[in-house]
Amino acid sequence: MGRKGQRMKKGMAVLSMLLLGAHAFAADMPAKADADKERIRSMVKEVLREYASSLSPKHLNADAKGLMQNIGQDNRNFMRTHKAGYFKPFADGQHPRATVITCADSRVHTHAFDASPDGDLFLVRNIGNQIATAEGSVEYGVDHLHTPVLLIVGHSACGAIKAASGDYSGESGPIKNELDTIQIPKGEGGIGSVVLNVHNQVKYAMGKFEQKVISGELTIVGAVYDFRDELKQGQGKLAIVNVNGESDAKKLAQLEIVQATEQAPARGRRSPY
Ligand SMILES: [Zn+2]
Repeated sequence: MGRKGQRMKKGMAVLSMLLLGAHAFAADMPAKADADKERIRSMVKEVLREYASSLSPKHLNADAKGLMQNIGQDNRNFMRTHKAGYFKPFADGQHPRATVITCADSRVHTHAFDASPDGDLFLVRNIGNQIATAEGSVEYGVDHLHTPVLLIVGHSACGAIKAASGDYSGESGPIKNELDTIQIPKGEGGIGSVVLNVHNQVKYAMGKFEQKVISGELTIVGAVYDFRDELKQGQGKLAIVNVNGESDAKKLAQLEIVQATEQAPARGRRSPY
């Protein structure tokens, strides 16, 4: 019998003993405190977890196996190509320049707009790129790490925006909670609502971090990562749609921060490798 088999056998034996014990316990001491019952429940749960972890590999979904093979391979490649010098700048602490909120959508990743995010982007992700559902994380980046930029990134074809514009009453409580905070009109879940949600998030952030924005300590940038070219600025464009509450395209184009974004990258940008 292999190690897993032994562990499973042991787990089942312990489970049987616990169940027998719990049965005798309940019969002999019906008035025992709830805390003790809870303790037994948690012990049974622990044994069941142990049992689940010992299940045969044949239970592993083929897609899950393939993915984990890819993850393992990519991580080995990463370790082979990144030596101690790569980790040195951020191994002992982080000094990110931006707190970034993006949607959790699998098509949105920072490599579209930052070739070296390590130690530089304090990244918060959730459905609909919202502050309200990850407020503590955003505060941590802005108030504790003092990032000079808060970048909020919406994206084309956002499922959260589409869902929030329709009837989502059939969703689970936790999902409903994260859609309730997206304030967009019903019936319009396209790029217009994606942009509106970014504006709403910037407005929310302006209210939260007003003093930092006024003092110039923080700049809040709202953008849309447009991988479908729905804004007609080019496929894959990170289009800036709002800076500190300003959303007029002509006025935005005059801002130094927008002009800097549109220019060639600054010299001396650190390489990811
Ligand atoms: Zn999304």
